[in-house]
Amino acid sequence: MAAKYGLVGEVDNRTDGVSVIVQGDLKTIDRFSNDILQNAPPASQIKSIEINLTYFTGYDSFKITGSKTINNQITEISPDIAVCEECLNDLGKDPERIDYPFINCTNCGPRFTIIEGLPYDRPTTAMKNFRMCRNCNSEYNDILNRRFHAQPIACNSCGPVYSYKDSVKSIGNIKQILEEISVQIASGKTVAIKGLGGYHLMCDALNDNAVNELRKRKQRDSKPFAVMFRDMNALKNYCCTDETEEKELNSWRKPILILKQSKKLSTPVSNGLNTIGAMLPYMPVHYMLFRILKTEAVVLTSGNISDEPIIIDDFVAERLLKPVADSFLSYNRQIINRTDDSVIKIIDHKPSLIRRSRGFVPRPVDLKFNVEGILALGAEQKNSFCIGKGNQAVMSQYIGDLKNVPTYNFFIETIDRFSGLFKFKPEYVACDLHPDYLSTDYAEVLHNELNVPVVRIQHHHAHIASCIAEHGLDEEVIGISLDGTGFGSDGNIWGGEFMIADLKNFRRFTHFDYIPMPGGEKAIDEPWRMAFSYLHKYSDGKFDYKSLPLFKPIDDKKLLLVEEMLISKVNSPLSSGAGRLFDAVSAILGFCSKASFDSEAPMRLESAIDEDTNDFYPFRITGTIEFADTINAILEDLPRQKVSVISAKFHNTVARVILKVSRKIREETSLNKVVLSGGVFQNKHLLEKSLYLLNRNRFKVFTNHLVPANDGGISLGQLVIASKLRR
Ligand code: ZN
Ligand code: FE
Repeated sequence: MAAKYGLVGEVDNRTDGVSVIVQGDLKTIDRFSNDILQNAPPASQIKSIEINLTYFTGYDSFKITGSKTINNQITEISPDIAVCEECLNDLGKDPERIDYPFINCTNCGPRFTIIEGLPYDRPTTAMKNFRMCRNCNSEYNDILNRRFHAQPIACNSCGPVYSYKDSVKSIGNIKQILEEISVQIASGKTVAIKGLGGYHLMCDALNDNAVNELRKRKQRDSKPFAVMFRDMNALKNYCCTDETEEKELNSWRKPILILKQSKKLSTPVSNGLNTIGAMLPYMPVHYMLFRILKTEAVVLTSGNISDEPIIIDDFVAERLLKPVADSFLSYNRQIINRTDDSVIKIIDHKPSLIRRSRGFVPRPVDLKFNVEGILALGAEQKNSFCIGKGNQAVMSQYIGDLKNVPTYNFFIETIDRFSGLFKFKPEYVACDLHPDYLSTDYAEVLHNELNVPVVRIQHHHAHIASCIAEHGLDEEVIGISLDGTGFGSDGNIWGGEFMIADLKNFRRFTHFDYIPMPGGEKAIDEPWRMAFSYLHKYSDGKFDYKSLPLFKPIDDKKLLLVEEMLISKVNSPLSSGAGRLFDAVSAILGFCSKASFDSEAPMRLESAIDEDTNDFYPFRITGTIEFADTINAILEDLPRQKVSVISAKFHNTVARVILKVSRKIREETSLNKVVLSGGVFQNKHLLEKSLYLLNRNRFKVFTNHLVPANDGGISLGQLVIASKLRR
C-alpha cells in the first residue's frame, strides 16, 4: 500500500501491534491510513489505529524491518486462514506453483497450526526446515508481491510435499496421488488425510456401505459425521441455507455449519438427525481432490479413535488409524498445534459456536479490565482453558473430554505451549467447584508446584460470566444457565439455574426442581432412567411404567432396582439439570432411551420439532420450578398427538418458564438485562423462542458468540470471575 502511494518508511511487527512509519506529504499519508482501514486483509482485525506526527526525512524506500519484542507484551497470533481465491487461481497459472497443494500468500494459509514460538517468523514455524528457493525468496522480499513476507511461502521446487501410502504401494506424485484417492473413494474405501490441524478420515458421503464401515471401524462412534461438499451448489443440494449461513460457510474461517438437511446423504452420516454438519473445501488439496472425485460430498471426520484427540503425528496416525483407514495421505510438514474444525450453528441470524478451534484460535477476547497472570482451567468435558494477558483473554482451542488420558495430556501440553507462546506465567489459578474434575486436580498440582493461589468457581456462575464478559457488561444481570450438569454450591448437581449475578458474586433466585438421578452418571447415558425418575416423583411412586412403550423393552429387574434406588435414596444424586429434563422428555416420546453420544436425547428431541406450533404446557413455580403438570400433559398428549408437536410444545414451555422467571426477577430487582448461557442454549428452537419472548417483553438479552455457550466457554467465565475475586 505504501508503494502504491509512493510513500517511503518502514513497518515492523511488534509484540504490541504493528508500527508503520511513512514519510511523505500529509494528504497522501491520510489517504494511505484510510486505505489501511478500508482494505485490510480479510482475516485481519484492526482494533484501533493511532497516528503520531513527526518530522523525519531519513528514508529513501519502504521496507519491512525485523520483528521486535516489546516488554512482556504479546502480538496476536493469527488463526489459520482458508486458501484464498487468488491462490486458487494461481494453481493454474503461476509457473512455480502449478497444482502446488501448499500454495499460500499473506492473505491465506496455515498460521496457528504451524507456530512454535514468537515473533511469528519462518524460523519459529514448522516451515523452518524448508529452505526457500530463489524464486520464493525473491517473492518473499518483493514488497509488491502478494507473498511478501508470507512465512509459509513455498512452491513446487522448495516446499512440503504430499505422499500416499496403502498396504501395497507408495506414491509421491501429487497428480497420481489424487487419481488413486479418487479411485479409493469411488470404491467405498476410507482414506486418512493429514489436514491443517490434524488427520481426517474421508469416505464417500453418498455411499451407505462406506459410511457404515467407517462408523464400525471408528468404534463406539455414533455421532453425526461432518461432510465436506464440492462447492456451495453441491451443498445446497442437500442442506437448507440462508444468507447468514452461506456467509459463514464462505468466510475465511471455513467452519463446519450445522444446517438443516433438505435431501438425504447416505443414511448413517447424520444418524437419524435432520441436520448435516456441512463445510466447504479450505485447503488447496481439498479443491484439487474435488476436481476429480466422482462424488460431490465426502465424510470428513476427525482422525481419532472414539473420543481421543485428533491425531497430528504421522507415526501415530499410521499406528492408530491402520484399522480404520485403507490408505494414508500425508505430507512432510509437522503440525505443531492440534486444532479441530470449528463448529457453528446460526441461531437468531447470528453465529453460535459449538466448537471453537480452527480459524478462531488463538484470537483473544478483549476485556475492559486487567486479567494478567490468571490461568482458568475450564470444565471437564469439551474442555478449553484460558490465560489472561493484560486486558485480553486468550482461550485455547477445543481440547475435549479430560477423562480421556491422551486428551488430558493434550491439555497439559497445550497449557505449556500457550505459556511459551504468550510469555505467560500463572499467578492465580481458577478452576471449577467440582471436586472430581481433572482440571480441578490440575489446579491443585499447580498450587503445590508453583505455590499459586487457587480459586474454585461455580460452574453456572462461570457460564453466565463468560457471556457478561463477552459483551463488556460488568454489572448485575438476570443470569439464566440451562445446562447438563455442574457442581452446585449445595453439593447437588445444578443445571436449571436462574440467578442474579455479576462478575464477582451470584445469588440463586430459583432453579428447576431437584430430581434424583438413579444410578448417578449412568442416568446421563440412559435417559430412560431420568424418565423413570420424573414419573416416579410426579406420581408419588404410583406410575404404571408398563403403560409406556419406553419401558417395555427394559428388564423388570432393572426397573425394580431403579425404583428401589429412588425409594431408598441410594446412588441417586439430586439434579436440577435442564439437560436431564430434556433427556426424560426425549425418552418418554420414544426418541432416545439410551444415548450413544453426548446430548443425543435432546438433539433427537429438537430434531423432531414441528416449527409451527406455538402452544405450550402448564408448569408451576413454587419455590422451585416444577414440571409435574408439564409431564402429565405430555402423557395425556402422547396417544393422540404427533410427537413433533409435543416436542415443540415442550420446548415452548421451557421458553415460557424463562420469560416468567425473568419477569419475576425484574419485578423484584428492576434488573432488565438477561444473560442466557449453558449448553442447552445450543438448542436453536429453544433459544430463538426465548429470545422472541424476552425481546417482546422489552428485556435486553445477551447470548454467547465469541465463545461457546457450552462447557467450552466456561474458562472465560472462570477467568473474569477470578480477576474480580483477586482484588
Ligand atoms: Zn492466498
Ligand atoms: Fe456446563
